[in-house]
Amino acid sequence: MLGNAENKRIEKGIERLGATNESLRGILEAFEPLLLAQGRMRTELLTAGLTAIPPDPAEFTRGIPIMVDKPLGDWADAFLTAARKIFPVMAQAFPGISDALGLILHNLETGMLDPTPLMEACITGDETTIRALAKKSKLNIKVLALAGAYAMRPIIQVCGREAQEAMADHNWERGYCPVCGGLPHVALLKQSGVDDPYLKGHGAQRWLSCSRCITQWRFKRHACPHCGNEENDTLEYYQSQSNTTERADLCKACGHYLVTLDVREYLEEPQPDVAALGLIPLDILMQRKGYTPVADTAWNKLG
Ligand SMILES: [Zn+2]
Ligand SMILES: [Zn+2]
Repeated sequence: MLGNAENKRIEKGIERLGATNESLRGILEAFEPLLLAQGRMRTELLTAGLTAIPPDPAEFTRGIPIMVDKPLGDWADAFLTAARKIFPVMAQAFPGISDALGLILHNLETGMLDPTPLMEACITGDETTIRALAKKSKLNIKVLALAGAYAMRPIIQVCGREAQEAMADHNWERGYCPVCGGLPHVALLKQSGVDDPYLKGHGAQRWLSCSRCITQWRFKRHACPHCGNEENDTLEYYQSQSNTTERADLCKACGHYLVTLDVREYLEEPQPDVAALGLIPLDILMQRKGYTPVADTAWNKLG
């Protein structure tokens, strides 16, 4: 099954990271069960027959992601199923928000919290709605946004599973995800397929991975995914001293950065969430230098 293969890849990748980077072990131990729970949930939802939203070529051309501004009420039961399984694992990874998560689940179970507007607000990034929902049920807004995003992850992955195919016919030159509109948390530099020794180092393709649903899309090599800036004198990169495959692309125009992993020499491409976890030390460094990540992730949102 696809889900199991993906989870094996996550386990292998995390084992490899932990073996080479002792300082990451605590973070890896916290996140591994969460990533695996999401993988199992995705398989469960697929097995239960959860349907994908077909991509609309006209909307695609206009830059509208598949799930944005769609009524998501049909997925409310799936959301509750995901919340039941994923919130307890989140509570173990982040013990400080365990009570807040319990309260959110209780509100969902008793009908006090309507999942549909929460799901839709998670997709559009509508903070006003999330704040209103949190206020109505006396919930912590930050935790509600994070919990909603995590329960949505497997649902987005199922809903957008036809997208990759549709994207082959369209150039998606946007800095946000074609499936859910999420922002990238990591870029992967991949082999271009042009096997010309004179092009070595220049033929890499830059693929962005969505922080919400890990959909990957190809993006310009020299452009900021946050503000679209393409000016050479304000685009820089910081190369890791210890590992030449790791770097952060910086935009001095908007102050955002995106961590990047060059996977051209890798025998097996890492799963994007695992790649992002491995780059946390670079994240910390860039934030100390005053840069802001393009996407919020659990490790910088709760900090
Ligand atoms: Zn996405
Ligand atoms: Zn920028």
